[in-house]
Amino acid sequence: MKEINAEIISVGTELLLGQIANTNAQWISEQLALHGINVMYHGVVGDNLMRVKDTFKLAENRSNVIIVTGGLGPTDDDLTREAFQLISGKKMIEHKPSMEYIEAFFKKNNTDMTPNNRKQARVFEDATVINNTVGMAPGMIIQHQDTTWVFLPGVPREMKSMLLEQVLPYLRKALKQNDVIKSYILRFIGIGESQLEYELKDILDKQQNPTIAPLAQDSGVIIRLTAKASSEINAFKLLDRVKEEILSRVGDYYYGMDDETLEHVINTKLKEKQHKIASAESLTGGKFIEKLISVPGASEVCRGSIVCYDTSVKRDILKISNETIEKQGTISKECALEMSKNVADLLDASIGISFTGVAGPDSTEGKQVGTVYISIYIRNNKHIVHKYEFSGNRDRIRDRAVIKGNELLLNLLK
Ligand code: ATP
Repeated sequence: MKEINAEIISVGTELLLGQIANTNAQWISEQLALHGINVMYHGVVGDNLMRVKDTFKLAENRSNVIIVTGGLGPTDDDLTREAFQLISGKKMIEHKPSMEYIEAFFKKNNTDMTPNNRKQARVFEDATVINNTVGMAPGMIIQHQDTTWVFLPGVPREMKSMLLEQVLPYLRKALKQNDVIKSYILRFIGIGESQLEYELKDILDKQQNPTIAPLAQDSGVIIRLTAKASSEINAFKLLDRVKEEILSRVGDYYYGMDDETLEHVINTKLKEKQHKIASAESLTGGKFIEKLISVPGASEVCRGSIVCYDTSVKRDILKISNETIEKQGTISKECALEMSKNVADLLDASIGISFTGVAGPDSTEGKQVGTVYISIYIRNNKHIVHKYEFSGNRDRIRDRAVIKGNELLLNLLK
């Protein structure tokens, strides 16, 4: 198997101006890594013929798989083909099926096709044409000297479907990558990325196959394990062995795998234990229950929520005592405790969870921005409350409160 040095070049002045982020390169890198293809360079160049040509020249001297996105459209500043022609001397022809497809596209949308749209159907004569089933301009795969060039449109939706459906299978075959690649995503909550890396340092240091990539996310930390093997069974064996090793160290923080999000796991656990949950949400304004309800089948476990933002709603609907409101205030552990119990009683749930706090920008009741109380009541079992001091802006504080609430709940349900 030949050593692959892949490079991704993104063409577009708007990338250099910072008007859009280069999400194409990030996504393509991720996909190539999953397929065991090493990416050595990322490049960005504006819509300027000579600079695109120079970027291509540099790339062909150091990379043998070059993926270019952008600049295949109909306008004068779409110059990718012309720049490649300058370095390769290859001839361009009109690709009849693509031209027919583009014409049909305009006809279907009842719009006149301007002549410059013909440009999009031009391909190099020895190219493998990649059909664009989402947009108009076809992509191309071209062998030039020892390098495989892949040209794709810049529009992410178009680029993604073409890469997944046509380019990756082509590359794996052409580059004789017969190995099977499989990956797991392990999900953790309640442990930071640096703590996790510290606990796993020796495993991370000696990693080879599977590769182990920790990544901090808003809702905890994930570890992506990617294994390459001669068969699916062997790949899963490699993954299972490392997964076991990792969980023997940090299993207390592990909650799910692959697409099992926090909300999915909580839903499943509530179902298993035949719980019904209700939330009393002041600070979070319904965000907690909204997340839980986004999971299909939530109706079996969610009773509902009271968004008790105003003090009168806390008092009149949630029946928080005057004494608590007047003496302790609505942002207090006493209020949070009453909120979680009362919402469970009012909505006939076995679990009540409550959120009260200060999201900012100004402090309230003399409490600092970021002060949050979360309480969980489990009928005939537990009644807890925790205080947090979160940092960040209003949205971040509210989001972090929801994540923390999920973490607390999960730990109680474990
Ligand atoms: P089309 O053939 O549809 O005209 P194109 O190949 O000419 O596409 P561009 O005109 O360069 O591609 O880009 C089209 C749009 O795609 C941009 O306005 C931008 O929104 C998005 N886009 C382009 N490049 C990237 C990139 N590297 N990352 C994320 N989005 C991108």
